[in-house]
Amino acid sequence: MSNEFPQIKVLNVPFINTTQTAFLAAIEARINHRENTFIVTANPEIVMYARNDSHYQQILENADYITPDGIGILKGAAILGQPMTERITGYDTLLALLAWGNQQGKSVYLVGAKPDVIKDVKKVVAARYPELKVVGARDGYFNDFTPIAQDIAQKQPDMVFLAVGFPKQEQLIADYRHQNNGLWMGVGGSFDVLSGHTKRAPEFFQKHHLEWFYRLITEPTRLKRMMVLPRYLKVVKQSARKSK
Ligand code: UDP
Repeated sequence: MSNEFPQIKVLNVPFINTTQTAFLAAIEARINHRENTFIVTANPEIVMYARNDSHYQQILENADYITPDGIGILKGAAILGQPMTERITGYDTLLALLAWGNQQGKSVYLVGAKPDVIKDVKKVVAARYPELKVVGARDGYFNDFTPIAQDIAQKQPDMVFLAVGFPKQEQLIADYRHQNNGLWMGVGGSFDVLSGHTKRAPEFFQKHHLEWFYRLITEPTRLKRMMVLPRYLKVVKQSARKSK
């Protein structure tokens, strides 16, 4: 973990505690210096998963930055008596870096989502960020990542965004990040939103921290995944009591 920002641990996962603006400035400087950088944007689901999978926990600990994506992490930190400044979401970070990359003429490699989704991502990115060099765009339904990694190694992009969902995206980044000294970041379902295939929660839901609720009503199949939230809060509360 990089130590330039204060950290707050939520159930053994060390989150950076800073603002989106300060975080972006740090990342942009690292990209300019071609420093190998691995960002994880973690939510309660990821934290709970890491508790039961020491290998994944290890991967998280070897990331350079873990940011609080999801209001559940801020809630957890508050319960633990260590309030965090703000959310730093994967989707907002992705958009900010694409915009910055466009201004700076940086290169980007995109991997993930279904074939028709990544096709539309390419179109949206070309239209919105014309100066950004998209040196690779692959769907996320590959059997073997090796040829993609070879292509990344050859093209040496400034930024690699992997949208194949956790824990797979973090596992792949941990395995292949040494092949390119740029930014590597897992962005989950972001390509579905960027392409317009999935709608992001309307502002009302975002403002009232109800994005999770919006996703639940629009994608009810996520209910099973969301069941982890009450369990997460319970474990956080137990941990807060213990540390008193
Ligand atoms: N996905 C993929 N390859 C796979 C499995 C999933 O590219 O083998 C994609 C899927 O199409 C979706 C994203 O990974 O675009 C996962 O989205 P989800 O919303 O589940 O991710 P989260 O942000 O919740 O981790």
